[in-house]
Amino acid sequence: MLPVIALVGRPNVGKSTLFNRFTRTRDALVADLPGLTRDRQYGHAKLQNNPFIIIDTGGITGGEVGVDGLMAEQSMQAVREADIVLFIVSARDGLTTIDESIAQQLRLENKTINLVVNKVDGFDQNTVLTDFYSLGFESVSAIAAAHGRGVGRLVEDVILPAANLSAIEPEPTPEFSEEQLIASAEDSADSESEESTKTDEIELGPKLAIIGRPNVGKSTLVNRMLGEDRVVVYDMPGTTRDSIYIEMERRDKKYTLIDTAGVRKRGRVHEAVEKFSVLKTLQAINDANVVIMIFDAREGITEQDLNLLGFAIDAGRSLVLGINKWDNLPEDKRTDVKEAITRRLHFADFARVKFISALHGTNVGHLWEAVDEAYAGARVKMNASKLTRILEMAVAKHQPPAGGRFKIKLRFAHPGGHNPPRIVIHGNQTKSLPNSYIRYLEKSFREALKIIGTPIKFELKESQ
Ligand code: GDP
Ligand code: GDP
Repeated sequence: MLPVIALVGRPNVGKSTLFNRFTRTRDALVADLPGLTRDRQYGHAKLQNNPFIIIDTGGITGGEVGVDGLMAEQSMQAVREADIVLFIVSARDGLTTIDESIAQQLRLENKTINLVVNKVDGFDQNTVLTDFYSLGFESVSAIAAAHGRGVGRLVEDVILPAANLSAIEPEPTPEFSEEQLIASAEDSADSESEESTKTDEIELGPKLAIIGRPNVGKSTLVNRMLGEDRVVVYDMPGTTRDSIYIEMERRDKKYTLIDTAGVRKRGRVHEAVEKFSVLKTLQAINDANVVIMIFDAREGITEQDLNLLGFAIDAGRSLVLGINKWDNLPEDKRTDVKEAITRRLHFADFARVKFISALHGTNVGHLWEAVDEAYAGARVKMNASKLTRILEMAVAKHQPPAGGRFKIKLRFAHPGGHNPPRIVIHGNQTKSLPNSYIRYLEKSFREALKIIGTPIKFELKESQ
């Protein structure tokens, strides 16, 4: 499970600024709660190379009714979900009575609260914190989120120790010559892929996370996927925020389903729609090898679906998309709906889209095939000579366009890691390569390596 950090405090103290600095993503996930201008946002962060989930909150105003009350409830919910709580206050505003009342509320939650005094820019280092010590928290940090000051220290001194982690050195990209790289390619690439095959993957097979909004048919699909097979069900330790892990076998292959809906969540009689847990879904995505994302054919694809999908792609997970309840759609509507859905999912066009009926089992076999194929894509073996050959063929077929005054030249390629597969391309003026050409390269690599359903990340390097 990824450690979860919650950012709480009054509005305007700089929570979003810190969130953005941590996550560097624009498409944060917003928990669905109609009527709120801003509530919890979830993002993925890498702090000293350790992955985290960050929850940003709208803020606690001290008002307890209406939108303010809901916003406060959202904040407290985030605190409960979190492993690490950062309580943000503002040096510009000094200590306010609302800060004091938030502190009081936070203390009731029985969690370690880390006080973070933001906006210390322009203030004297020695006096700026004194006010805030009266809140009585042991851990007090000073930062200027807008400028990044003190943020590194906050990560090193507060966040990593709280999560029992330490800084991880990034793996250096080898600075070899083309000849050296290609010569050493075969062994190094092979041993690398061996390493990435974790032993539990071999024993339990790939982990498949079945995700999607409530009521799209996840439980029905899980039951259908389990079929008549003998299964062993075990719960992950912990609370209701966790998914259920189900080991199973199909055609002599092992799989573990990560059931975010919970097959045993309710009798078929009471179909109260459960609350959608973004956090549970994110944790499931993070732990999975393949994400099966389910949509309801009649409801189409919502903004939140797209954000969730973006998160899965960002995490580099293999992906299969299932448009469920296809049986529910009149025959004459199917072509139009298919087109509309395909158009909306174009940014995930590396993934197979299967139109299924979990209820009747239609096309679920094809869904399984797509899962196997996507998982195989994530395990494709790459090495520098193979990748360089593919690059050369692609360039021979289509030269890169002229990049301003200098000619763009792509020289060679080598693997840059797994999960997701990463391809490093060296050349001159690589920064000027237009996106359309990168997409063309991606397509060429996909076809040559037969990678379907798994995102490929590219890294462009300048070299002579
Ligand atoms: P939130 O409502 O708590 O999420 O606050 P925001 O992140 O939206 O920030 C509120 C305002 O404070 C914005 O205008 C930010 O630019 C500003 N701000 C954030 N961090 C800093 C900082 O470190 N120093 C200064 N001077 N301003 C900051
Ligand atoms: P979950 O909340 O995503 O787990 O959704 P459920 O599996 O509980 O399904 C929600 C409702 O949709 C139930 O009434 C199911 O019977 C129904 N449902 C699920 N799959 C299908 C399907 O393929 N076709 C039709 N017509 N209904 C379905």
